[in-house]
Amino acid sequence: MNVPKAVIFDLGKVLLEFDYHRAASTLGPLSAVPAPEFKRIIDQTPLLHRYETGLMTTTEFVSEVRQITGYHGADSLFHDTFGDIFWEIPEMIALQQRLMAQGIPTFIFSNTNELAVRKIQSKFPFFGGFSGYIYSYEVRSMKPSQGIYEAMESMAGAKGADLVYIDDRLENIEAGAARGWQALLHADPAVTIPKVTHLFGLDR
Ligand SMILES: [Mg+2]
Repeated sequence: MNVPKAVIFDLGKVLLEFDYHRAASTLGPLSAVPAPEFKRIIDQTPLLHRYETGLMTTTEFVSEVRQITGYHGADSLFHDTFGDIFWEIPEMIALQQRLMAQGIPTFIFSNTNELAVRKIQSKFPFFGGFSGYIYSYEVRSMKPSQGIYEAMESMAGAKGADLVYIDDRLENIEAGAARGWQALLHADPAVTIPKVTHLFGLDR
């Protein structure tokens, strides 16, 4: 089997852990609802889905959250806090750095939003080291929809088994596998990392 050409990384729960509780505990007290309710409203809801599909701007998103929750704090606090929900998964970041050092192109492939990306760019230096970035809100398509996968193939200039893909969500992995990508359902770095290094012959 040929050596693949690139590695595509999902972001959340692959390279970065996240918890919306972090944002809700700061923003909730400045709203009319308790923090757990605030978290429920911003986390994995149709509202967030619309924002991450690029169907609403950041300004529109913040305005809608204000209406729903009664948030009355500053826009600047919201902007700074909403995306501040991530922390590093060191073993997986080390894998990306190792691939990059070998000259293997790596890509970010994420269902995400402008506020999260801005925060991640400013907080995590490793994030600058990828060959390219596909964000759902920019391509207006979310995994597992086909459009975002097509955008990824275009950017990588490769398709099928030339692409190794790491994601923690089964539906996303299945959509990649259906395109012939070498898709790895990620749960544990100790399992994923040897599989990737083997595919590139780095374990020899
Ligand atoms: Mg994920």
